[in-house]
Amino acid sequence: MTKYIFVTGGVVSSLGKGLTAAAIGGLLESHGLKVALQKFDPYINIDPGTMSPYQHGEVYVTDDGAETDLDLGHYERFTTAHLNQHSNYTTGKIYDTVIKRERRGDYLGQTVQVIPHITDEIKSCISRVASGDVDVVISEIGGTVGDIESLPFLEALRQFAHDQGRDNVLFIHLTLLPYIRAAGEIKTKPTQHSVGKLREIGIIPDVLVCRTEHDVDDEVRDKIALFCNVQKSAVLIEKDVEYSIYEVPLVLRSQGLDDLILKHFGLKHGSGNIDPWLEMLERLRNPTCEVEIAVVGKYIELTDSYKSIYESLTHGGIENRCRVRVRRIQAEDLTTGDAAQHLSGVDGILVPGGFGDRGLEGKIRAVQYARENSIPYLGICYGMHAAVIEFARNVLGLEGASSTEVAKDTKYPVISLLDEQRGVEDKGGTMRLGAWPCDVMPGTMVAKAYGSEHVSERHRHRFEYNNEFREAMVAGGLVISGTSPDGKLVEIIELADHPFFVACQFHPEFQSRPVEAHPFFRELVAAALTKRAGAVPALEREEVPE
Ligand code: GLN
Repeated sequence: MTKYIFVTGGVVSSLGKGLTAAAIGGLLESHGLKVALQKFDPYINIDPGTMSPYQHGEVYVTDDGAETDLDLGHYERFTTAHLNQHSNYTTGKIYDTVIKRERRGDYLGQTVQVIPHITDEIKSCISRVASGDVDVVISEIGGTVGDIESLPFLEALRQFAHDQGRDNVLFIHLTLLPYIRAAGEIKTKPTQHSVGKLREIGIIPDVLVCRTEHDVDDEVRDKIALFCNVQKSAVLIEKDVEYSIYEVPLVLRSQGLDDLILKHFGLKHGSGNIDPWLEMLERLRNPTCEVEIAVVGKYIELTDSYKSIYESLTHGGIENRCRVRVRRIQAEDLTTGDAAQHLSGVDGILVPGGFGDRGLEGKIRAVQYARENSIPYLGICYGMHAAVIEFARNVLGLEGASSTEVAKDTKYPVISLLDEQRGVEDKGGTMRLGAWPCDVMPGTMVAKAYGSEHVSERHRHRFEYNNEFREAMVAGGLVISGTSPDGKLVEIIELADHPFFVACQFHPEFQSRPVEAHPFFRELVAAALTKRAGAVPALEREEVPE
């Protein structure tokens, strides 16, 4: 029988519920259990696909083409679970289903209400991911206890636990233990209040994960246990990790969280095998060298906007036993002046995905700098569009070449709307989304990186390489190293006379894992290392600057 873990949060947002849920998933997998992970987001948008990265951070795309919350990226990086359309539900998506049902007349004359109709739909969303041989479902509830918009979700969880039996459900609540400097004390009152709020709804948490920046002594744990009515062994301290988010599973394991969960559910447990994870951490913590990679983007101020990109660069570093330092560059800043001013000294350049005209010219300058100075380059989606435009303008001499996304009447539309996108008017969920097969041309740099000629990669775009220019570009030296199996869509390009210049229409960052970097990130870091040959290994320095 499937067991259910619900992860809620109190006191403040941004406590790292997603990371904690992902880490728990990884720990349970280490005991041989099959997990499914899911996130509920209490906002009205059907999905985050239409939201600005400034509002919401990156949009993470699943194999089946769902545009989802960035926490799902953590779920896939910490576990082997494959997420799908059912892994992320928003209030909007749930209401949409219920309202469509009402319009069809499925409620047969009833008044449709939050309870039971919305809460019933939330409960069926939880059951939906429990299909097959899943041992444990982990559902995270976005937002903070006490928010008006979280209420239907929490009520649904309470009912769900009632329906399933308390032994089959475990409530984990994350809270914050603030440190008041003037008093020199860690404070537990906000935790008590947020647990109180949960109890008002009828949910009694089984485990408290207390987030803190400081060490917490035993007395504080005793107090939390007593006042919040939780076993002391179930009061866990999740102090900010020193080095990497990938240490979180160890922090929880060292306090026995996995054993506690298995015992609660009456599941068989052994010692759990986390060796591959430990080996990965050992490589991460002990780099022998370092490189600096520039990420040139439009939403560069917020690290959440390119979450999976930054994580993937770290993964590339892990495989090469190399510390990857990222130089974040606002693409607009490259539009004028000397590109070298911003880019000199970097060992690699990455241009991530994006939309619209702000910053595009700067991205094109970054590509030019990478191409002309033989700096390893990885272009992702819009970063491929920028690379194609740059090649058209500066190698083929097609002045004013551009993408019809930003220049409808360009004389040389080297990037243009996908045929299937013509006539599409709705913005939400209508891009070319999800995993598509790609055939890789033998003998190319990319084929060597993959070690395979048939791959599957995740997409999120409306515009695409324009085949009208294919012949001219190939004649000019551009290598088309990957296409859709019918050969019609150009999915990957590279340059032959360059140490590493690869650009792809898809998002390799969605399939990169700490224990196995995506080949493009592994090779980008390797090429950056080669470029930096002669660099002083990090460990030989007195101090590695942050
Ligand atoms: N704006 C481009 C398109 O829609 C690229 C999208 C992206 O980078 N994800 O095709």
